[in-house]
Amino acid sequence: MRPLLLALPFALLPFTAAYAHDEHEHGSLGAHEHGTAQLNVALDGETLEIELDSPAMNIVGFEHAPTTPEQKAQAAAAQQRLDEPETLFALPTAAQCTTAQSDVGSPVFGNAAESKGHEGHEHADVDAHYQFQCDNPSALASIDFAPFFKAFPGTRKIVVQAITSNGQKGLQATPANSLLKF
Ligand SMILES: [Zn+2]
Repeated sequence: MRPLLLALPFALLPFTAAYAHDEHEHGSLGAHEHGTAQLNVALDGETLEIELDSPAMNIVGFEHAPTTPEQKAQAAAAQQRLDEPETLFALPTAAQCTTAQSDVGSPVFGNAAESKGHEGHEHADVDAHYQFQCDNPSALASIDFAPFFKAFPGTRKIVVQAITSNGQKGLQATPANSLLKF
């Protein structure tokens, strides 16, 4: 796997808005605003990469290791859904994209390091890295995030940065404005 996303200028759309809660030590959490996820897209040849960085709150409704049976079921269902990225990101059928790799990690799924929040201020992210193989990338004119918003209604905004052979694109995707056009 080539690290396409490492080449991305991640400061393209810097956050200037105030955080939803006090800014404090997030360790590696980076921008962490409940309701908002960060998503990077890179298309290189026939390889489409998507990298998602979301507060766990948006995905499962809590940010700690699941304790109750209900929370465990919620986490398992969310993890399974995240492992099927073709159901979350609507790609043009003509582009003939299939999921080549799916890598999902979070403390709430028990497969990533625990977050290091202060007492009473614990936060955790869900990180996902996807790779699609697109046999006809010239038909990849857009990505619709509508299915993602539907699957995870705790997500109100996805800050998207995309880089393709057409250059860079940014979108503050919302349920009402969910289509990224390249
Ligand atoms: Zn949080």
